[in-house]
Amino acid sequence: MLFAPCSTCSDAVGPMVTLMSEPVRVRIAPSPTGTVHLGLCRTALFNWATARRRGGKFILRIEDTDHDRSTAESEAAIVEGLRWLGLDWDEGPDVGGPYAPYRQSERIERHHERAGELLAAGHAYRCFCTRERLDALRAGQEERKETARYDGQCRDLEPDDVERRLAAGEPFAVRFRVPEGATTFDDLVRGTVTFAHAEVDDWVMVRQVGGPTYNFVVVCDDIDMRITEVLRGEEHLVNTPKQLLLYAAFGAPAPAFGHLPLMLGPNRKKLSKRHGDTALGDYRANGYPREAIVNFLCLQGWALDGATEVFDVATFVERFDPRDVQKAGAVFDFDKFKWLSGELIRRQPLALVAERCAPFVVAGGLATEGELRERARWFEQVVAGEQERILLYSDLPGRIAHFFAADEAVPYAADAEAGARKHAGRIETLAAFRAWLAAQDPAASAEVLGAGAKAFVAAAGLKLPALFQPLRCALTGMAGGRDLFDVVVLLGREHALARIEAAERRLA
Ligand code: GLU
Repeated sequence: MLFAPCSTCSDAVGPMVTLMSEPVRVRIAPSPTGTVHLGLCRTALFNWATARRRGGKFILRIEDTDHDRSTAESEAAIVEGLRWLGLDWDEGPDVGGPYAPYRQSERIERHHERAGELLAAGHAYRCFCTRERLDALRAGQEERKETARYDGQCRDLEPDDVERRLAAGEPFAVRFRVPEGATTFDDLVRGTVTFAHAEVDDWVMVRQVGGPTYNFVVVCDDIDMRITEVLRGEEHLVNTPKQLLLYAAFGAPAPAFGHLPLMLGPNRKKLSKRHGDTALGDYRANGYPREAIVNFLCLQGWALDGATEVFDVATFVERFDPRDVQKAGAVFDFDKFKWLSGELIRRQPLALVAERCAPFVVAGGLATEGELRERARWFEQVVAGEQERILLYSDLPGRIAHFFAADEAVPYAADAEAGARKHAGRIETLAAFRAWLAAQDPAASAEVLGAGAKAFVAAAGLKLPALFQPLRCALTGMAGGRDLFDVVVLLGREHALARIEAAERRLA
């Protein structure tokens, strides 16, 4: 008999439990084949929190065995994006570590060595079936509406036959010899999962062309890197049976597995670009604070207490347990994401909001980076009036553009101008107010000016909007916004007067 069952795979008890004293070692193994998807960010976050909470190690391993699709740019984007989110790893291609290399493509010799071990032990066998034969096999199965699976043609070839074909240079794949029986494991998220081995066919570990496959290399690397827990997306649940059988064949303890619920679009279909942005870079470019992205991702399948939605990453680290992750798909709520963004911006220190908004102001063409730096205190005050109102950092430029406009050409929004024009005596009121303002102490505060302006309106026998609507239009071109006398102070007296004078012409 070629296949000698090992002690762990002959019964149905599932993976060996790793020793409690072992520090937890978790990883993410992204394929560098495109943009940094939010699903990857969530998986990274949950693994990272596991390591940080339990004093373990978090490892980044780049799964770049798909040569055609893997790119160095994508790997760099993953590293940069995850770091931007605030994640760090203890081992990885960019930081090294005791189990280097951390790029799967650089471990290929080891994978072949491991395949050789399984061949020698009879847990794997060489399959000489040609592509034509396999295609015909599959076509027949499809026609008969059977599950596509390998029929085991090469499973029990005579050793002499194998030798002869090898000597003749016949190409072969290496297949895993799936034993009979069943395996049960305790998924950290889903609880007890049992699969019958009959559901798994003798899958290809090493292709005839193209080298080792994902299910094989991922286990080789996870064993070599002493990974103790694997948290990953539910789409990988189908792979876990194959992988557990490999651990058993290697006689290695299997990590604990936890499969995180799929992220779903509002229509409960797997989240995709059709629903909206799914790449980290999109949210970043759109002005979401990284803290909001992290907070939102924490909520994709996990909850703090069922009521508190806004919390920081330290709280997440303190409280996260994969056993609390929900089984049901996590519906991605775009509106809530934006709301969360606004909530977090409101809670941030002003200086930070100003710093984060600055690039959007520069990109919006309102000022250069140098100009903003030179007027840092002033810019902070400008931001202060909007911090409560913006949902995204990128909302800021549109709300403060008037501060950067030429006094005679402040763009008037239609509603602001219509509101101003409602007041028949607007030109006289503006002119009188301009004279009043010009006479005020140049150092007067917004509060003092505000109180004075109210007294001015009362003395003129007007209602407040009769001054304030034309004045707001004159100074900001907007129908609403922050305290007008903050605006007067921030613009500087000369500019405020010039804007009012321009409005006396423009609103005539
Ligand atoms: N490269 C796989 C992915 O990005 C890794 C899956 C795993 O964690 O085993 O989905």
